[in-house]
Amino acid sequence: MKTIGLLGGMSWESTALYYKLINEGIRKELGGLHSAQIAMYSVDFHPLEQLMAEGNWKELEKHLCQYATQIEKGGADFLLICTNTMHKLADQIQGAISIPLLHLADATAEKVKSEKKNTIGLLGTKVTMTEDFYKGRLIEQHGLNVVTPSDDDMDIVDRIIFDELCKGIVSEESRIEYQRIIGTLQEQGAKGIILGCTEICMLVGPGDVDIQLFNTTDIHAEAAVRMALKI
Ligand code: GLU
Repeated sequence: MKTIGLLGGMSWESTALYYKLINEGIRKELGGLHSAQIAMYSVDFHPLEQLMAEGNWKELEKHLCQYATQIEKGGADFLLICTNTMHKLADQIQGAISIPLLHLADATAEKVKSEKKNTIGLLGTKVTMTEDFYKGRLIEQHGLNVVTPSDDDMDIVDRIIFDELCKGIVSEESRIEYQRIIGTLQEQGAKGIILGCTEICMLVGPGDVDIQLFNTTDIHAEAAVRMALKI
């Protein structure tokens, strides 16, 4: 079995889900007392989130590349960045290490395409919903038609992620807002919704909406299990 590298803590609420899902996946495949071999670096998110809010991606790059190097030194055979947003630095992080990066947007796009959903709604942080490294990648590299919320609704989606979900706060009021926003994406033709932030699955699940959800936390963890076991 290969050793899975996890760059986590952004936030730890979702990294805890990764840890559980990956271990469950290995147990399901191998049985007995089998569990995942994991080399993890879990960051202190507060200062990193501040750098992101300031738009200081150069400084963030330095930190994340250094953490990724430490994960490689810790014995990881490949790396997962356990957040959609920080994939903005995926190329730089890949450049700092010699092990492969299992890219979250690619794993998600493959799943979406396998379900033949050509028009897909995207929810995530504002960075993820608007920038080329993620939305653009889904469109350019994977040929998907991506719909996103209005500017005002993007602010709501983003605020709930940072002010609530990353702090472990799950409220009914916010669930209703997400349900409403998902409805607007369906009106724009979305045939499925990418939960493109690793905490959104804490708030919205299949029972809450009448459209197929692509939960990036699940998809990434499942892809990691397959890569670790070469299946
Ligand atoms: N975990 C989140 C994501 O998947 C947001 C937190 C972050 O900015 O890294 O995008």
